[in-house]
Amino acid sequence: MGEPLKQPVLLDVQNLNINFLLKNGKVAKVVDDVSFSIYKGETVALVGESGSGKSITSLAIMGLLAVPPGEIAEGKIVLNGKNLLEYKQKELSKVRGNEISMIFQEPMTSLDPVFTIGNQLIEGIRRHQKISKKEAWHKAVLMLQEVGIANAEKVITEYPHQLSGGMRQRIMIAIAMANNPHLLIADEPTTALDVTVQAQILKLMLKMKEEHGSAILFITHDMSVVAETANRVMVMYAGQIVEEAPVRELFLNPKHPYTVALLNTMPSLEMDVERLPSIPGSVPPAYALPDGCRFAERCQFAMDTCRQIQPKVRLIKEEHKVRCHLFAEEGASVYVKQGSITPN
Ligand code: SF4
Repeated sequence: MGEPLKQPVLLDVQNLNINFLLKNGKVAKVVDDVSFSIYKGETVALVGESGSGKSITSLAIMGLLAVPPGEIAEGKIVLNGKNLLEYKQKELSKVRGNEISMIFQEPMTSLDPVFTIGNQLIEGIRRHQKISKKEAWHKAVLMLQEVGIANAEKVITEYPHQLSGGMRQRIMIAIAMANNPHLLIADEPTTALDVTVQAQILKLMLKMKEEHGSAILFITHDMSVVAETANRVMVMYAGQIVEEAPVRELFLNPKHPYTVALLNTMPSLEMDVERLPSIPGSVPPAYALPDGCRFAERCQFAMDTCRQIQPKVRLIKEEHKVRCHLFAEEGASVYVKQGSITPN
């Protein structure tokens, strides 16, 4: 587990609200009042189940949100002091692949099947760097070698379908890092890979981050990946961040009942891997959110207040924030341990 870093702020997301207008006329609040910062050079994990709003948040940061049906109703996304939401698409395309890059779960959705790896890598490099084709070719070969592709001169002439899933993800990392981005957004980059390749790709991403001095926003549903990669963790549920803390603090001292439930789904050595635990129930749909706490229907500690009033985010300790009525007052008299509430 990495320690939190104290560096200047790179990305500052403030009160981000994203709605989707549905075909039936209803409005889905997919991201609601989300605020967080990422410091230069750190790795932050944004964790939660499918439908929590984490991928939509990352698409908004990249300027890739489909508008319509999506709409950024409110908020700021400030990168290096500039609010990206005030940028035109043309200006944003200069930021994408340069100051911010993104890696997706399935590289085939990002790699173009009709172009060679070399074409795609060189095109990405030359879009942001004023260098000749020949120089870009050399840089592309170097990038492939940097991501552990031994026969780079051959692979650069091949097409995506000729390569394995692990190789394609290495190539996506090479493309994403080729212009030394300040921020790399990795959206479930290892989910489609087998466990051994997963570990290699995670190691590679952290090595590339160190060498290129980038920060990483790691989007995942997997707490084991969080433990291996992050300095800080933000837990997202039904469009809201419900807990945020340095990684060690979050694992040793989780507060929000949803975080506790997520940690309890982590496999342990004694566990039967065929029957991994899951959290009972499901995330409420973004077009029918309850008035009170969004986790109430699945929470074993839910009280009447929880169903009526939405909890606010509270700073309960330095760098540890929670959105839960159990911590509604300074020095709340209860705290949550893994799997249970214990009186103080
Ligand atoms: Fe559970 Fe209430 Fe906290 Fe929501 S606010 S997580 S329902 S205890």
